Amino acid sequence: MTASYLNELQPSARLLLGPGPSSVHPRVLQAMTVPVIGHLDPDFFQVMNDIGDMLREVYHTSNVMTMPVSATGTGAMETACANILEPGDTMVVCRNGYFGIRLGNIAERCGARVYEVDSPWGQPVDPQALEDELSKHPRVKAVGVVHAETSTGVLTPLPDVLDVIRRHGAISIVDAVTSLGGHDMRVDEWGIDVCYSGTQKCLGAPPGLAPITLSENAMQVVKTRETPVQSFYFNLQDLESYWGQSRSYHHTAPISMTYALREALRMMMEEGIENRIARHARVAAALRAGLEALGLELLADPDYRLNPLTTVRIPDGIDDATVRGSLLRDYDIEIGGGLGEFRGKAWRIGLMGDSARDRNVLALLSALETILNANGYEVAYGSSLAAAQKALAAER
Ligand SMILES: *Cc1c(COP(=O)(O)O)cnc(C)c1O
Repeated sequence: MTASYLNELQPSARLLLGPGPSSVHPRVLQAMTVPVIGHLDPDFFQVMNDIGDMLREVYHTSNVMTMPVSATGTGAMETACANILEPGDTMVVCRNGYFGIRLGNIAERCGARVYEVDSPWGQPVDPQALEDELSKHPRVKAVGVVHAETSTGVLTPLPDVLDVIRRHGAISIVDAVTSLGGHDMRVDEWGIDVCYSGTQKCLGAPPGLAPITLSENAMQVVKTRETPVQSFYFNLQDLESYWGQSRSYHHTAPISMTYALREALRMMMEEGIENRIARHARVAAALRAGLEALGLELLADPDYRLNPLTTVRIPDGIDDATVRGSLLRDYDIEIGGGLGEFRGKAWRIGLMGDSARDRNVLALLSALETILNANGYEVAYGSSLAAAQKALAAER
């Protein structure tokens, strides 16, 4: 008997249509195989500069402090909170899903007094409710809001929310993990202070880096803190000296992941940011049309639906695990189950980054038709495909 760890690593070639990670283009995987160089090598500094330039384009910002944190999206959430908040500070967190709840949890662990503004799952953040909450508390240091709630499939329009935050003189912390590269994001125009994302969703690289950007104003808050940032690893002042002019060592950059991010961003520049956002919109419209043709109910408010991620109610009598298991086993397709309030009740279908392709929508719908029929939920074969094809044709 040979131990399984002696076998060559050969994971199945899955089509990743869940809430992340998304499928990674071969060009990005290829970039990870080029020689590893040192994190203080001038050639690597060029890679860092390229990434900074491209991230500023994607974020639509001129923020000098724009860099990837060596972590997944959650690490960027920690970075934002740990650097902006000091023990005893007050933060208001808008919660309309799982990731808003996580953001509040992290802020509390940073020692902040956290007040919540809750919206029902499936709805966006309500600027008036935020206004009312902010009016109750003097000196709110920061407000957290999730742009694209991956747990519910809802996009919160940011300009109105940011107006409220600015009027109350608070620092805005925006989670753009699922929106960056899939929806419009205008950090400077909308006046966002801190915005972070992750490589594994619409940016189209593997999980492992989390691009963050901070305005001058936000960096001023970080630099004039009275207490040191509790985290050594995520301390932005030290990270600024590595990513900025002095290039001094803080921790070893994940070299191969940085290559991957560079290639993923380069592909985005080639495609054009606007074109890429339009691609996400087109495939999402086709997916929604196909699901509705199957009589399935979409869970996000129709006026605020995310393109990179669609939530759909699991029909009565259909077992969540059976369907997702069959998709994975028989079709090599991964979709996500529900989180929090939606656990066992919803599927989460992601069309992010390189996964956001016409052919993937058709492959998923086709497989779903077969699986649903096999499980007693009768649908006419081809019905969802026809609806999706029609939606795709309308957008060409
Ligand atoms: C995925 C996600 C995160 C967390 O990212 P990880 O890569 O899982 O750490 C945070 N916020 C939102 C909105 C997300 O979708």
